[in-house]
This record gives sequence, C-alpha cells and structure tokens, in this order.
Amino acid sequence: MAKYIFVTGGVTSSLGKGIISASLAKLLQARGFSVTIQKFDPYINVDPGTLNPYEHGECYVTEDGAETDLDLGHYERFLNIPTTQANNVTTGKIYQTVINKEREGAYLGKTVQVIPHITDEIKRRMQLLGAQGYDIVITEIGGTVGDIESLPFIEAVRQLQWELPDEDCLVVHLTLIPYLRAAKELKTKPTQHSVKLMSENGVNPDIIVCRTEHPLSPEIRRKIALFCNVKQEAVIEAADASTIYEVPLTMMREQLDVICLRKMGLPLGHEPELSAWKAFLDKLKYPKAKVSIGLIGKYIELQDAYKSILEAFVHAGAVNECKVEVVNIHSEFITPDNVDEKLAPLDGLLVAPGFGLRGIEGKITAVRYAREQGLPFFGICLGMQMAAIEFSRNVLGLKGAHSTEMDPNTPYPVIDLMEGQKEITEKGGTMRLGAYDCDTAPGSLVRSIYQHARISERHRHRWEFNNVYLSDMEQAGMLASGRNPETGLVEVIELPKHPFFIGVQFHPELKSTVENPHPLFVHFIAAARAHAENPSSDRKSS
Ligand code: GLN
Repeated sequence: MAKYIFVTGGVTSSLGKGIISASLAKLLQARGFSVTIQKFDPYINVDPGTLNPYEHGECYVTEDGAETDLDLGHYERFLNIPTTQANNVTTGKIYQTVINKEREGAYLGKTVQVIPHITDEIKRRMQLLGAQGYDIVITEIGGTVGDIESLPFIEAVRQLQWELPDEDCLVVHLTLIPYLRAAKELKTKPTQHSVKLMSENGVNPDIIVCRTEHPLSPEIRRKIALFCNVKQEAVIEAADASTIYEVPLTMMREQLDVICLRKMGLPLGHEPELSAWKAFLDKLKYPKAKVSIGLIGKYIELQDAYKSILEAFVHAGAVNECKVEVVNIHSEFITPDNVDEKLAPLDGLLVAPGFGLRGIEGKITAVRYAREQGLPFFGICLGMQMAAIEFSRNVLGLKGAHSTEMDPNTPYPVIDLMEGQKEITEKGGTMRLGAYDCDTAPGSLVRSIYQHARISERHRHRWEFNNVYLSDMEQAGMLASGRNPETGLVEVIELPKHPFFIGVQFHPELKSTVENPHPLFVHFIAAARAHAENPSSDRKSS
C-alpha cells in the first residue's frame, strides 16, 4: 500500500510548492523509498500545451508525450526518474473524463455532480500511481487554498484522509511568513488564516512549512504550532536559498523527511544518501571559471519560459566547474547592424525553441553570426530550424528560404509540415510529442558526445526539416548527423568545420538532471569555456 503526502499552498502563489515537494521526495528517495510526485492543477485547460508561456511558463513534455506543468521538470531533475501522463492532472482532464462517461451512459441515469462524481474522479487519479507500487506518492495541489477552483481538490483530500487508514495520508501546508520591515517583525496572521480556511474545508494540515526571509524564532514556531494545531517540531522553516538545489539540504536540517516518516508510521530507513548531490552543489557554488551564453528567444523577460534550458545550464556548468552566466537577448531586437555589438562579448549562443513569426529574422541573423564567427552554437527545435534556414539562404543562396510556419508561400520550404500534420486542425496534444529514437552518424560530433549509435529524445513540434534540400545542404558542408530510424526525419544537424555548431529538432533540456546532466549541454558549455579561454583560435568561418 502506498502512502500519500499532499502538499497544499496558502497565502500566495509562487511560494515554491514544486521545489518543496521535490526536495521532500528527494530526501525520502535518498533514504531508500520509492517515491513519485504528481501535480493536480485546478485550471480548466485539459493540459498546459495550449497555454501561452506568458501565462504559464514552459510546457514540459514527458517521455510518453504528455504536455505538462513545468513543476514536473523539477520532479525529474531532482528525482532522476521520468514522469508520465499520470503525473499531471487538471480540472479540464477530470471534467473531460466525467463528461465522456456521462455521454456513454455510465452513470445510469444519475444526476452527475461535483460531489461525488468529480471528487471521485479526482480521488481515482490521485491513487493511480500509488497502485503502481510506489512506497510514497506526493501530490502537489496547484493554486492557493481559498481559490474557488481548488475546492473540489481539497474536498477530495478530505475524503481520502477519511477513507484511508490514518497513517496513510499526510498534509503538508506551505505558507508565507512575511517580514514587516517597519515593525521589524515576522507575521503569522496570514498563515493562521490560511490554515483556518483549510480546516473550514475539513482538512487539518499535519506539517506547516514556512517560507521566510528571516529565521523563525522559537516563539514564532510556538505561536504557529498553537494557532495551527500542529506540534512545534512540525513547524518547518524554509528560508530563502541561493539555489533551488540547496533546498533538500535545508529540509533535511529541519527534519521534514523524519517528521513525515514518523507520522506515516514508516521506518526512517538509512540516513539520506546525498553524496552525489552534495558534490554537485560544491561544484555549483565554487566555480573555477565563467562563460557567458546568449539565450536568444522571444520570452526572455520571463524566467519560467525557458526553465528547463536554464536548469540544464546549471547542471552542465557544475560538470565543467564554471559559472554559466545567461545573457537574455530578445530576438526581435537583433539586426544585421547591431548583431556584432550584441553577440561579440559572448562565449556561446543558444537559439531557443518557439512558435510563430515574431523575432524570427533576429534569430536567423544571430545564427549567421555564430556560424561565420566560429562562436559555439546550440539550436533547439525552432533554433535548429532557424539554423537550417540560415544555411539555405546564406550558403546555398536560396533567397527567401523559410519554414512554412512563418511563410506559407516561401519558394524554398526548407522546414515544412509532414503530410500527417497537414490535416490536423485541433491544437491540443497534436504535435509530434514525446520520445523518439534517433540514430547518430558515425564520426559525427553528436556521436562523440552521446557515445551511442541510437539515442532517444523528447519532441514537441509540428514542422520538420524538409529532406528535399538535404543533399544540397550536405554537399555544402552541413551534416545531418541524427536521423529518425523509421521515418528518416532529420533530428540533428551540425557543421563539421565549425568548433561547435549543433542544431537539434528535439528538446534535450527536458532530460537533464542533477545526477545525469545532459551531454549536449555539458559539451556545449565545454566548447564555450574553450572559446572563452582562447576566442581567436575559433574564428575560422565554415
Ligand atoms: N514552431 C516549431 C514547430 O512547431 C518549433 C517548435 C519548438 O521550438 N518547440 O515545429
């Protein structure tokens, strides 16, 4: 039987429920338990695949092709195990299932209602992963307690607590203890209110995790314990950390894992085995060198839009013992006139994934600079497509070459829709999604990086490299060094004469974890470091 830990949030959003959930899961995993984390989101979109990054940050894609919340990225990066379709559920998914069942006549003439039908479906989904053999399932409930849309989820937690044996369910409530500078005081009232709201809904948190900018004094802890009806040791301080990867260690010092295990009646297991994690943190905190990487995108004012890429840089930086300073450069403002000035100070260039026309010419201009100047280049998805377009226009001389996504009437559609995509009109879940195999070419850079003939990476795109142009490109010096073994689709392109120029149709950033930093990012940062140490030697244009 699996045990269930629910993580709820109070007072405000953005307190870092995902990081707290992932840190707790890490500690339990490091004690020898099998743990997974799932996220329940109260919005009505069936999944975040159709959401604009401005609304919701990055859309994270699982191995089995689910478009999910970016917190699942944190879960994978911390736990180093893949998540699946089942790890992210939204109100939209719940209602879709219930409404489909109603249309099938499965409710036998009953009135279909929020309670019990919606809450039953939530409870069924909450226990799906538990039935797969995990010792502990952590469920993060999105949103903030008190939101109207969160109510059915809190009600489902209440029912589960009532239905399952006492020790099988635990509620951890994450809250904010604000500091009033004028009064020089930490304030517990918002926490008291949010816990009160929870108990009005029939759920009493077992553990209160307090986000705070200042240490919690014993009196404050006692006060929170008293008013929130928990033992004092169950008031956990979550002080601001310099990096999210520090949080498992702060939670270990606060004994969050020990308190959870005791309350669930589980043995403590061995002390958390975190030597690899600590070694990573040491390298992260004490870098020996620094590289500047230009991140060229159109959502650069928004940290969450490229979350997995930024985290993959953190992992790869630690391996290379160098700090990766990411310089956000808005593609809309790159022009042939200012590209030198903007990109010359950099040691590497990453052209980001994306959709639509905005900022496209700036991306192409940036790729040209990197190709001609020998600046390490890494293009991901749209970034790879831009590299193919740049090469077609400026090396093959195909004026007006483009992707039919941006220019449906281009004379040279070097990036085009496959037949299978042309008929599709529905937007949700219809891209090429999830893991696909790719064969790497012998002797290529990508083969030497992966050290494997066959690799598998995750996808999220509609358009593809158009093989009609492949032989011309290869003759002109671009190598298609990764191909899908079944379809022949080009997954990786590279320029063998360039110090480091790789474009990938897939999303390697989704598979980079603390314990398995992604080799493409590791080698890209190594190339950037070499460039930083000796920039002039790279300047051989290809
Ligand atoms: N817009 C491009 C496509 O759909 C690239 C998508 C991406 O970068 N994820 O093919």
